[in-house]
Amino acid sequence: MVNVASFLALSAQRHPDRCAVRFADRRLSYAQLREQASRFGSALLGRGLRRGDRVALLLPNCPQYLVALFGAWYAGLVAVPVNAKLAGPEVEVILGDSGARALVYATATAKAVGGLDLGGLVTVEVDARSPGPDAFDRLLAEGRPDLEPAAVDGDDLAWLFYTSGTTGRPKGAQLTHRNLNVMTWALLADVCDFRPDDVVLHVAPLSHGSGLYSLGAVARGAEHLIYDGASFDPPAVLDLIERERVTVIAFLAPTMIVMLLGADSKADTSSLRCAVYGGAPIHVEHARRMLDRFGPVFVQIYGQGESPMTITYLSHARMPDVPLNSAGVPHPGVEVRVVDGDDRPLPPGQAGEVCVRGDVVMRGYWNNPAATERALRGGWLHTGDIGHFDEQGNLFLLDRSNDVIISGGSNIYPREVEEVLLRHPAVAEVVVFGVPDPLWGENVVAAVVPAVTPPPPEQELVEFSRAHIASFKKPKKIVYVDALPKNAYGKVLRREARRLAAA
Ligand code: AMP
Repeated sequence: MVNVASFLALSAQRHPDRCAVRFADRRLSYAQLREQASRFGSALLGRGLRRGDRVALLLPNCPQYLVALFGAWYAGLVAVPVNAKLAGPEVEVILGDSGARALVYATATAKAVGGLDLGGLVTVEVDARSPGPDAFDRLLAEGRPDLEPAAVDGDDLAWLFYTSGTTGRPKGAQLTHRNLNVMTWALLADVCDFRPDDVVLHVAPLSHGSGLYSLGAVARGAEHLIYDGASFDPPAVLDLIERERVTVIAFLAPTMIVMLLGADSKADTSSLRCAVYGGAPIHVEHARRMLDRFGPVFVQIYGQGESPMTITYLSHARMPDVPLNSAGVPHPGVEVRVVDGDDRPLPPGQAGEVCVRGDVVMRGYWNNPAATERALRGGWLHTGDIGHFDEQGNLFLLDRSNDVIISGGSNIYPREVEEVLLRHPAVAEVVVFGVPDPLWGENVVAAVVPAVTPPPPEQELVEFSRAHIASFKKPKKIVYVDALPKNAYGKVLRREARRLAAA
């Protein structure tokens, strides 16, 4: 199996002068990106790292991210992406568990590593806005410009991704060169057939989906435009799309789409031909509005760290008839089934745990055979997501198994209640969860960010729900809040909302 660094080697050979990356006033051609990646990888080998060693990347989005990522692969090293918003103790857990031998961090993330014992690690600080050479440039000067991508085996580790860890310690999902090759083929075949004339915008963290999808854009020699705002500013992002004639958005979390829809902007976004979203459920109301505003350019993907970006997909241009609340169909070559509590496959229409098998599924968790055995039992990845297929083979995701509310013995899927509440004009955002109740076991509660002030009386939303879903599913209580708790990737934290409500 080919080293994924070869995607860059080939594009640099074919289009050396094409722009590979743009960020503020910086620009790297494909030849320069390849040379810098080679220098980065060989410099780390020069500092004593060996094939298979882990390199932690604690960087916000910047061109050096792509240099370090492909540079690690050039040298046969393993990238450990670390979300740039994590706090010191969280970073420490990942560095310790992965046994990282090198850490690339940014001036912007220096605070998180300030108090840590980094003895024994090769460390390098990136100053993405430095006008002159920074420590990263000095490291590059130590390396060679002409490294060839290291020979790897398909099962060699490439990307060690730490799951968000909503319960217990985060686990490192081990993704191999084979996994990333297969993910990229599925991306190019079903999600976005990148072209050399594409301008690909990265607004979501490169440490997650946006970074993985850079493989497809690099393989096709497209230009990466890295959004350089300090935070996601919807009108600024829309202006950037108009100004730079952006054709592809590499990845958007549903919360970003909601923010774009709320922006007061008339920007012309007609240059867009593809925008990928996923990573969390998008509610039907938002999906409908997003298609009205931007056209059928969207492709939804369903994946997880353990089967990155690649389980099912729904392309609104190519599969216009699939219901908006579906996560689409499995990628060819990826087997997906829904099973009961004893791992027996269930027929269409019956809900159970979604399981996945295929060359995109992780090798297992790093240093955690017990969790690996649980997640991969019987040769299938158990996603922890509850869903069902319809007769046409479209997958519908209900919720994470841990989020299902059981009230009076009946299962209630929070997402279904949220879908209904979002149809009320006074509701901007909502998260539904269960709180303990001595009689019913659990009661349904909705935390709502109101779209109007003052918000309507609680009872109005309860009655509205009652008109659309069974009475036992309607929220017993509405709590108005200013914002929903979200993790570093913008995912709504249902359990955190429940904890806050209990407090
Ligand atoms: P992560 O490992 O951080 O990428 O999170 C993966 C989880 O996000 C999945 O197991 C799902 O619960 C959720 N998720 C990902 N994509 C979708 C999607 N398209 N629709 C609904 N939930 C999703």
